[in-house]
Amino acid sequence: MLELKNITKSYTTENFTQKALDSVNLSFGRNEFAAVLGPSGSGKTTLLNVIGGLDTADSGELIINGRSTADFRATDWDAYRNNSIGFIFQSYNLIGHLSVLANVEMGMTLSGVTAAEKRKKAEEALARVGLSDHAKKRPNQLSGGQMQRVAIARALANDPEIILADEPTGALDKTTGEQIMDLINEISKDKLVIFVTHNRELADRYADRIISFEDGKPVADTAQDQTASGSEEGYTLRRTAMSFFTALSLSFGNITTKKGRTFLTALASSIGIIGIALILSLSDGFKIQIEKYEDSALSEFPVVISRIMANFTEEDIRRGNDDMTAMLTGKREYADTDYVTAADESSEIDLHLNKFSAEYTRYLESADPDVCDEIGYTRLVAMNAVTENPDGSFRWVTFPTGIAGMTSYDSSTASNYQMSGVGLASYPQSVGGGGGYLREYYDLLAGEFPAGPHDAVLVVDSKNSIGESVLEALGFDISAGTVPFSDVIGKEYRLIGNDDFYTKAEQYGFYIQNTDYKSMYESGSAISVKISGIVRLKDGQTVGLLGFGLAYSDELVSEVIGLNRESALIEELRTSSVNVMDPALPELDEEERSDLMLKYGGDAEPFVIYLYPGSFETKDKLLSYLDAWNDSKEEADKVYYIDMSAAVTQLTGSIMKAVTLVLVAFAAISLVVSLIMIAIITYISVLERRKEIGILRALGARGKDISRVFNAETFIIGVSSGLLGIIIARLLIIPINILIEGRTGLAGVAVLNPLYAAGLIAVSVILTLIGGFIPAKIAAKRDPVEALRSE
Ligand code: ADP
Ligand code: MG
Repeated sequence: MLELKNITKSYTTENFTQKALDSVNLSFGRNEFAAVLGPSGSGKTTLLNVIGGLDTADSGELIINGRSTADFRATDWDAYRNNSIGFIFQSYNLIGHLSVLANVEMGMTLSGVTAAEKRKKAEEALARVGLSDHAKKRPNQLSGGQMQRVAIARALANDPEIILADEPTGALDKTTGEQIMDLINEISKDKLVIFVTHNRELADRYADRIISFEDGKPVADTAQDQTASGSEEGYTLRRTAMSFFTALSLSFGNITTKKGRTFLTALASSIGIIGIALILSLSDGFKIQIEKYEDSALSEFPVVISRIMANFTEEDIRRGNDDMTAMLTGKREYADTDYVTAADESSEIDLHLNKFSAEYTRYLESADPDVCDEIGYTRLVAMNAVTENPDGSFRWVTFPTGIAGMTSYDSSTASNYQMSGVGLASYPQSVGGGGGYLREYYDLLAGEFPAGPHDAVLVVDSKNSIGESVLEALGFDISAGTVPFSDVIGKEYRLIGNDDFYTKAEQYGFYIQNTDYKSMYESGSAISVKISGIVRLKDGQTVGLLGFGLAYSDELVSEVIGLNRESALIEELRTSSVNVMDPALPELDEEERSDLMLKYGGDAEPFVIYLYPGSFETKDKLLSYLDAWNDSKEEADKVYYIDMSAAVTQLTGSIMKAVTLVLVAFAAISLVVSLIMIAIITYISVLERRKEIGILRALGARGKDISRVFNAETFIIGVSSGLLGIIIARLLIIPINILIEGRTGLAGVAVLNPLYAAGLIAVSVILTLIGGFIPAKIAAKRDPVEALRSE
């Protein structure tokens, strides 16, 4: 049934070639019990390995059951070892971390025998070698003889046709050795048994055929006439394959023998995962906090529509960025020309003029309250007023206009409104009337909220203070350093129209300001305004829109414009070719004329409109409402706006993203480190498990199965390090949140998104698999013979 024809095998080490098998011709029949007897180094083991398909011959032919193995591929050899061969080694070669039973089952595990059948056959085999009671033990809990019995049971369990025993008693004492030989003899009645020994006595006693071996070839054979018994039909091989589950349980068993090291490896490679998990938790948490802030505070940032809008081109933005870079770093991009360029000034900023027609204002004011809560206006009319001083004299007061702040108390700053700082002078009005804005955002310290357009409020800061120049300009006595609330409430101002405030110097042709404040105050056309209350921004509000000082309604401003629109001054400004407000009477161009009209009340259109969405969610609705106006409008008639909160949101969003990215990149470096570490650890494991690799190969495992075992090992490490990382990160979040809460008062900022947690475990598994991939491949390529030789 087995025939070797001219089998030759030699080993070349450095410059010396050793012929281990020298043109061996042998044939074996079924039911033979043959001994290969020869001195150490004569090539016996090599012969067995070639017969068993663990090693391949350099030349010659091996014929099994009439079939030549010349065309065998690697997987055929694997199947052959698994199905047809049972190996028994001198050093037992049991897998230490598996139970006796699992060791016996392993060959069948590899060929996919069902669990129940596998168990039955293994138990039978153990019963035949007399070890039924030891099935649950580990190999190292057995004596040498018992271990060899396990090996015999393993060789038998899969019911192979050929049993190959390489010095099976070599490590045993004489009596035990004899018991083992008796056992082999007894269990192999219907099998071909080839056993190798250097012990003639043993060969004589047990073998029914003795082949004497020397220098790589048989020198004597007690059965010279033995011929190969024909070609048996129906010789097919059942393929072997290790399931991933088997690989996993093998590696799990292996890992439990080195728990400490595995834990440390998993811990070390989890550090990157911990880092990334914490960074993501924090950035996620901060994002949530920012969103909360946006919801509450940013929703109060208005959408701003100014009469003059700058349309920045990409070129403008690039130039702006360059300027910013130069400012921060001193680095500039220098031109390399030998001429001076006359820069085009006009193209620097493209201005768009928004037209606030009555129709547009109506469009805004008819917006659904759920799209736009409140509207505020800034009109640049000079608000000249007179008030009575505490001593009974009268003084001129200019009401703040524009985006207020103290600087706009100088009425000539109308055109500098953009520079004049923070805060509005006229408070926003609810769409559909009512003073909701003040009540919602401001606490009343004294007096009443305004009941109509002729009531104003004094806005103070959290320390109840206002700049002294502002207070003085409003006509308060600040000599004591404080002004009692009672002096503030009821304080009256009278807004004076142009006809009372300016007189034309007829002989010169320009207008001059009157100084008889008492008669202005008493004029029938003056509009009276009283301070009805003192207000202060509510606790918890982040953005106070009103400047500190006087705040009044937009209706009041409209009244002043109404009073002035028909004044002699405006009549004259409308048609005059010179500036009648300037004693030099300079020529007037259209741009200057419209500035003057704006300032002296000849222009009813607002200069800036502020629209307040009720909440962050309605912001989008408001924007589409504004966009809808522009549909099907000519470019010149379009109205452009600025979304202040979007700018803030985008900025914070992109800063967060950048910071997160940088931190994640740092943490990713530790992942690379752990990748390398896993590669090294797996390689060490491959070295350590060399013997196991050899055993599995001898039992018929394919190279692929071996790499699967190591991939399973890295998979286990990957899962553990991922889980460990997530658990540790989750625990670290507790003190981190306590720390953040201590510093900022924000509770529960860092949150670990379960999706990220799952993703990071996946990353950990993938990375460790990558790290272990090459060592696992190396393991797959290991020569099984060499692997078995290793200690
Ligand atoms: P035996 O089992 O009879 O003691 P072996 O078959 O193990 O002998 O070895 C036969 C010869 O081949 C010996 O000289 C041995 O040194 C040599 N040999 C075996 N394996 C190798 C190897 N991997 N590399 C080099 N020489 C080897
Ligand atoms: Mg040997």
